[in-house]
Amino acid sequence: MRRRRHGGGTIWVGIDDTDSPRGGCTTWVLTELLVEARDQAVDVIGEPRLVRLNPNIPWKTRGNAALSVRFGHGVGPTHRIGAAGGRALRAFDRGRPLPADRAEAFREVLWQRVLAGSERGEPGTDPAMVATSRRLPADLYWKAVREVVAVPTVRALLERSGAWWRTQGSDRGLVGAAASIAWGGGHPTWELTSYRTANRLGTVRRVDPLSVIRASRAHPSLFLCHDPRTRRLLVAPHTACPVLFGLRGTRPGPLLRARPAVRSESPDRWVLFRTNQGTGDHLRPWPAGGVGPYQAARFRAEVSALPVALPGGHVRLSVTTRTGRSVVCLAFEPTKTLPRVAARLAPGDRVELWGSRGTDPVIRLEGLRLLALAPRFAPPSPPMCAECRRPTRSLGTARGFRCPTCARRYPPERAVRRGLPPPLPLGEYHPTPSARRHLAPRGPEEVL
Ligand code: ATP
Repeated sequence: MRRRRHGGGTIWVGIDDTDSPRGGCTTWVLTELLVEARDQAVDVIGEPRLVRLNPNIPWKTRGNAALSVRFGHGVGPTHRIGAAGGRALRAFDRGRPLPADRAEAFREVLWQRVLAGSERGEPGTDPAMVATSRRLPADLYWKAVREVVAVPTVRALLERSGAWWRTQGSDRGLVGAAASIAWGGGHPTWELTSYRTANRLGTVRRVDPLSVIRASRAHPSLFLCHDPRTRRLLVAPHTACPVLFGLRGTRPGPLLRARPAVRSESPDRWVLFRTNQGTGDHLRPWPAGGVGPYQAARFRAEVSALPVALPGGHVRLSVTTRTGRSVVCLAFEPTKTLPRVAARLAPGDRVELWGSRGTDPVIRLEGLRLLALAPRFAPPSPPMCAECRRPTRSLGTARGFRCPTCARRYPPERAVRRGLPPPLPLGEYHPTPSARRHLAPRGPEEVL
């Protein structure tokens, strides 16, 4: 366990890496911190934040989530951010610093709460908490959502910022805990997460899909509630974690109104988070040095070869970027839409693509936009005879045509090439909703 010191103030607290594939959830641990603050009469300032980081990090447990929240002495009106133990959780828009000794004692208590809520002893669960009086530089967020960040880089930044931190196990969780505090919070969406009572953990979740569909129709700013194509309910996870359901939306108000309309087993608590979900923040223009391992990009290119259908329903697409770089992309079958669209492309088509890399240089597509399609032609047909005005007949491949009436001959290049309409309308194509990543840019949910 590491310890560092720093002075008092409003406290930004970031946490990460408290869960394992067997259970737990860092968002739930954050709710524990909110309860602790309420018990200690410390106020939440602003909104609790659920920040998704680089979705290609191989050592993430599930959705690479990190959490942060700011504490202090609230000033002015409050708003409701949740409920726990039958009592409301509230937050202030503005706040004053806590006295230094109070802040120091409080963060120690929070760390104990983080440890108590973590899946300790599980491999890969290395809880971390960062506390700082100022938000960390936004640059760290952009690196952590788009690249692989080294732990020593974060430690050095924390050191320079006078931040306090604790870890257990490796220090890896510091990356997420710090990056979550560094998120500027711009162009956000919101997620209202409802949690299960402890005695129901591990049992089948009871969430009525029809009530979710009705709530999403009544509140169109909700997104990714269910997949009309695969008929999957997307608000409830299938893992052993304490989340009962999570409603995502582009505005907080409708989420608060939609929550009571979802019929489910009785929840233990709920919290409304400001998030970077659905923002596409992990995507950036093709960097000059190329897209590195575990990075993602959004770029324009021209299709350079006919798409290749692969076993399992996947499609390989070869393109050339505007700087002349050859890139191989894969449209995976579970995305449903993307292989169908990719399979209908042809050399010369102009597209915008977005997707991610693993260790190999192939880009796994997460979406595409058809910008312009090269002309398509039907198979060539025999020309009309200029004399008789009747169709000629083919003499065989590359041998031209002959008029059956007057025997006049025509060379192969006189074949008629008729243009075909484009195979698909221009525009954006996104994966079927159940195959979208948390950070995926938002798009229509009715897909091909
Ligand atoms: P869940 O979504 O269920 O909360 P998770 O998918 O967030 O789980 P974690 O157990 O938190 O998974 O593991 C992710 C780990 O990767 C954390 O230790 C986090 O600090 C680290 N991490 C996140 N983003 C990066 C990054 N860009 N570079 C390096 N490490 C990162």
